[in-house]
Amino acid sequence: MQILDGKLVAAKTREQIRNNIEAKGLVDKIGLAVILVGEDPASKVYVRNKINACAEVGIKSTLVQLPENTTEEELSEAIDKLNKDDSVHGIILQLPIPKHLNEYRFVNEIADSKDVDGNGYIQKGKLWVGKPEFIPCTPSGVMRILDFYNIPLEGKNAVVVGRSNLVGKPLAQLLMNRNCTVTICHSRTKDLDKVCASADILCVAIGKAKFVTKNMLKKGAVVIDVGMDRDENGKLCGDVDFEDVKEECSFITPVPGGVGPMTVTMLIENTYNAYVK
Ligand code: NAP
Repeated sequence: MQILDGKLVAAKTREQIRNNIEAKGLVDKIGLAVILVGEDPASKVYVRNKINACAEVGIKSTLVQLPENTTEEELSEAIDKLNKDDSVHGIILQLPIPKHLNEYRFVNEIADSKDVDGNGYIQKGKLWVGKPEFIPCTPSGVMRILDFYNIPLEGKNAVVVGRSNLVGKPLAQLLMNRNCTVTICHSRTKDLDKVCASADILCVAIGKAKFVTKNMLKKGAVVIDVGMDRDENGKLCGDVDFEDVKEECSFITPVPGGVGPMTVTMLIENTYNAYVK
């Protein structure tokens, strides 16, 4: 079994972006605005990581912090201001937002040319018709890892467990765009073990600690574990039981150090592309 080292791929990708930004004299000329509504502690950590990653590569970040009781009008105004700001090339709305605000509405108020999370309907549509521009960052990070390790995709059976708009659906689309035969599974899938065991490439994004075990695996499968969960001792782990499957698979992303580091990296890349394209 070989580890698919997302930390390594992320470091190399960021180095490349940093080099490009320096070579083109663009340090602090590319702007990313991050909107954070409320006090969700996990969101604060993710936002800090994004801001640190911007600093690392020479992108100028702006944090727009809004209170929990922000109204629809206020959030709309904040997005509109950033849409019109020529020094801002990418805008992200950190999810989840407080329940009284409609996520879909506000994600879609971000100008398409600045939608570097790829969450708006237009970016999703571009991906669906096979003409992706800003690809959602986690699935795009998965594809980058597969490519870095030259994992063949064409004609392979790929099974994606999880059908969220953020991860499962776009990942399935990306794999299909690369000529995999894709099966998407979810909480109502029958005989999930058998379907997973048909996969040459098994991608799991369900949010259930150590859910996938070796009886669900074809010998030699490539395993992509998107999950970020806590085990019974509160330790960070994935949706796949790493210890149980490690001798069965050919390649696997560990948690931590697999898909996680790629997500922020692809956001940085999308922001860079929003400026240069
Ligand atoms: P989500 O929106 O909660 O979606 C979970 C999906 O898993 C749903 O489609 C659900 O099916 C399916 N599911 C749940 N239990 C299942 C089961 N027992 N068998 C089969 N399918 C099942 O989650 P998400 O946002 O996609 O995130 C998934 C995991 O990835 C989480 O652990 C999250 O923390 C992690 N994540 C990591 C990163 C990263 O950067 N590494 C980024 C994003 C997410 P239904 O549709 O039928 O309900």
